[in-house]
Amino acid sequence: MSDKQSVTVHAPGKVNLQLNVGGRRTDGYHEIATIFLAVSCYDKLVLRRSSGLRVTVSGTGAGEVPADDSNLAGQAIKAVAKMGGVEPDVHIHIHKRIPVQGGMGGGSSDAAGALLGGDALWQLGIGRAGLMSLAEELGSDVPFSMLGGVALGRGRGEALQPLTSGITYHWVFAVAGFGLSTPAVFGAHERHRQEAGLPFAAGCLPAPQVSPRLIDALACGDVDLVAQNLTNDLEFVASRMRPELTRTLTVGRGAGALAGFLCGTGATTAFLVPNESTAHDVAEALLASETCASVRIARGPVQGPRIGKAEEF
Ligand code: ATP
Repeated sequence: MSDKQSVTVHAPGKVNLQLNVGGRRTDGYHEIATIFLAVSCYDKLVLRRSSGLRVTVSGTGAGEVPADDSNLAGQAIKAVAKMGGVEPDVHIHIHKRIPVQGGMGGGSSDAAGALLGGDALWQLGIGRAGLMSLAEELGSDVPFSMLGGVALGRGRGEALQPLTSGITYHWVFAVAGFGLSTPAVFGAHERHRQEAGLPFAAGCLPAPQVSPRLIDALACGDVDLVAQNLTNDLEFVASRMRPELTRTLTVGRGAGALAGFLCGTGATTAFLVPNESTAHDVAEALLASETCASVRIARGPVQGPRIGKAEEF
């Protein structure tokens, strides 16, 4: 057993370049087809040996994140400790930069980071491939959070196929002054389909697909074609729930973004920009408009969670 006392992990958030929602399955989950892309907006986790399991949280939206057993990072540490046959005696401190309830998979990223961090702290030698089975049990987005890069996700998002990206893209994220709950947004989507007389059960709908044009555009690094193919089936209902999202999208698009769209189930909005200088212009315009609480400038795709210092990646 090693005497390593602490480990630092940086866990990236994600954006869904397309989020196509199919029918609701009998287990309550919706079938989705999506393209995930990991971005350089990181939560930082410090895992330190301690007596018993303790979770503390600081940073953006920390007050909305549970600092108890329901924290996904705490659940992850228990799972990896169990697999490794050790006691989960660790203090996990999470510093949040990924917006909470922002549709950027922050809780899932922290879970993936905690799996990797626990494996490193206790030198269990499980490795990323071995941790994947735990990731699948922890949540739909946790497997992608462990993988990073770009990937096609099917099922409820856990069935992954890695994709290639020709280039690294520049992004601006507008963090809303409120969160949107994932079940509430999927519920609103289903009510909207019901009102329109459309079917919503998985057996009555074809399996959702992502556009092959987007996959090709990503492989070639054709930023304009990527921008033309960024879509989110949940944007309509999320904007109906919070009309201020439409105003944020209008500002970002008008300030030079190639495309603006909702991140996952919201409430963060994402903007693809052609270069870093435009990223700063779009970020400034968003802040000046007062239609969002803060902004993040990022690049992506990036790798999944990494052990080490922030400046190393
Ligand atoms: P989803 O993965 O459901 O799309 P999201 O990306 O929109 O979620 P998260 O920031 O992951 O949003 O938070 C969803 C909820 O998960 C929060 O309301 C919070 O109560 C809970 N949660 C549990 N652990 C964490 C964590 N480590 N960080 C953030 N939220 C957490």
